[in-house]
Amino acid sequence: TASRIERDTQLFDLIEKEAHRQEYGIELIASENFTSKQVMEAQGSVLTNKYAEGLPGKRYYGGCEVVDQVEQLAIDRAKELFGASWANVQPHSGAQANAAVFLSFLNPGDKILGFSLAHGGHLSHGSPVNFSGKYFQPFFYGVEQETGLIDWDKVEEIALRERPRLLICGASAYSRDWDYVRLRAIADQIGALLLADISHPSALIAKGLLNNPMDHCHIVTTTTHKTLRGPRGGLILVGKDFENPFGIKSPKGELRTMTSLLDSAVFPGTQGGPLEHVIAAKAVAFGEALTEEFGEYALQVKKNAQVMAQAFIDKGYQISSGGTDNHLMLIDLRPKGWTGKLAENTLIKADITVNKNMVPFDDKSPFVTSGMRVGTAAMTTRGLKENDMLQIVEWIDDVLTHNDNDSYLAEVKKKVNAWTENFPLYR
Ligand code: PLP
Repeated sequence: TASRIERDTQLFDLIEKEAHRQEYGIELIASENFTSKQVMEAQGSVLTNKYAEGLPGKRYYGGCEVVDQVEQLAIDRAKELFGASWANVQPHSGAQANAAVFLSFLNPGDKILGFSLAHGGHLSHGSPVNFSGKYFQPFFYGVEQETGLIDWDKVEEIALRERPRLLICGASAYSRDWDYVRLRAIADQIGALLLADISHPSALIAKGLLNNPMDHCHIVTTTTHKTLRGPRGGLILVGKDFENPFGIKSPKGELRTMTSLLDSAVFPGTQGGPLEHVIAAKAVAFGEALTEEFGEYALQVKKNAQVMAQAFIDKGYQISSGGTDNHLMLIDLRPKGWTGKLAENTLIKADITVNKNMVPFDDKSPFVTSGMRVGTAAMTTRGLKENDMLQIVEWIDDVLTHNDNDSYLAEVKKKVNAWTENFPLYR
């Protein structure tokens, strides 16, 4: 029919605009990246048409012979990439992956302990505006005011005092590594389950550039679209802990394994049919991440972040925790007299995208904030190296210094647009 073949120019013109924005801007949002064309091709495929409730080989729908192979490929590659013993590739997002973990092991009202949202944690780790903080009783640990670092002794102190059933590590805006050995020792003392949400640095972990939680945390969750450079989605992994520590049983009285609880918490627990087109795109991304070339990429992401952090420090900016071990940094703009809101709104005038972000011990609201978060994952995909980080910091400083001069900012924007031509993205 006409409606099926007539091009929807209204919509595709918008996509064209967004493609242009991505191609000609400097993308520094730490949670974003640019997938390969084949990742997008898989996601935009006929697999979007298929219902496949259940798991490979155990579906509630017919015609799943091919999608079974697609999903199995994604599972096998995810396991290989992270050195995991088990994987579920179905969560629609990082928050959904965490929801499945909560549903598997917690009862409403149970205590959970996570990294404070105000210090760089994620909403789904117990924020009162999220299901995790509404249905469970959240407690938080944070960073030290003087160092910007997490003090593991303090985490232990809170854990021993509150005795949560679930201890969560991982963050959205923490630039330092995690001590998974110590965290497991803390969890074991109180019989808690330890969850590592590695959504942000997962690619760096997979490529051996940061501590690996797989042998120490009962469960690991991640998004697939940040440093990992896949489609938007979630992933749940288990390393070696298959026994559920709480002795949860099936209605028939049989002891459930960790992984069977997780599988059924994803479907039917929190989701319906899996997005097999997204799972296919995850398989492609995991395949790409398994290559040596991706290892070089991950290393460059880390090197770029370190050079960028130092360049900011050299210009008098204050980096939370004093530097970075991963792909991101949190910049406290208070010594410069600027807010995160001003920085975000000013930088976008020069086509430089960052996000405003609360800094630890912030005195401003989440809509204003005292900080901005920047990351190197996306621009490193475009081929940028250490020297290019210096150029970016130059521009950021220049733009923020001239934040009330729109004609000046328009000139910088022209330079930024011309410069991005050197690093073709999808063109
Ligand atoms: N966990 C962490 C640590 C994150 O940073 C994020 C995303 O920002 C999520 C979970 C949620 O992922 P999604 O946006 O895919 O639900």
